[in-house]
Amino acid sequence: SSPRQFFVGGNFKMNGNIDTIKSIVKHLNDAKCDPNTEVVIAPPALYLLLTREHLRPGIEVAAQNVFDKPNGAFTGEISVAQLKDSNITWTLLGHSERRVILQESDQFVASKTKTAIDGGIGVILCCGETLEQREAEKTVDVVTSQLSAVASQVKDWSKIVVAYEPIWAIGTGKVASTEQAQDVHAAIREWMGKELGKEAAEKTRIIYGGSVSEKNCKELAKAEDIDGFLVGGASLKPAFVDIINAKA
Ligand code: PEP
Repeated sequence: SSPRQFFVGGNFKMNGNIDTIKSIVKHLNDAKCDPNTEVVIAPPALYLLLTREHLRPGIEVAAQNVFDKPNGAFTGEISVAQLKDSNITWTLLGHSERRVILQESDQFVASKTKTAIDGGIGVILCCGETLEQREAEKTVDVVTSQLSAVASQVKDWSKIVVAYEPIWAIGTGKVASTEQAQDVHAAIREWMGKELGKEAAEKTRIIYGGSVSEKNCKELAKAEDIDGFLVGGASLKPAFVDIINAKA
């Protein structure tokens, strides 16, 4: 059996309101979730406190982003200390929507990852290639250079979960095949072995994201190096529970 606990994250993106988020939380609170799966949900920042207040213990809450400075004149940003103060124990970082639409660089993502890890919160660190990069056979180069930027600033990866999210698969309904995902996950784990050491390579969860659904999750979950999922669209639906239970 795997030395890595199965991990399922839900990324609500900029969706939901007080009523719908309360009802998602109630559904999760009442659901039969595999006790062996670690579950973390990431609502929009405005609803982090509400989510934490209503969600049962045992399911953690993540921000979708955090800033790399401790406090001060950074209008619109949220600090790691503010997340911790609110019992928000994780953050997503480097999601492709932020890399592409908000033009976040590998270095900026790395700096924020360092700040989050130094501050004691967990990071779901997203990486992934465009369709053009895949077709040019640059997938592994792209992904490992995104991760190398983080490795040059962060030595302790024990609170990092890597989310491999091919951009062409996000929100498109075009899920990667189990083989496509497994190949990249194995390449990431090999990179980890070289850059971070054997223990980090064995213990770090590498989760897959991109059009994961209740229909395709069980097959993907069989792959040796797929340690869970980051789920966008389907995390807003009752079927999210089926994805949490993909290994059960
Ligand atoms: C995501 O936003 O991280 C994601 C994987 O989205 P979706 O599941 O909707 O493709």
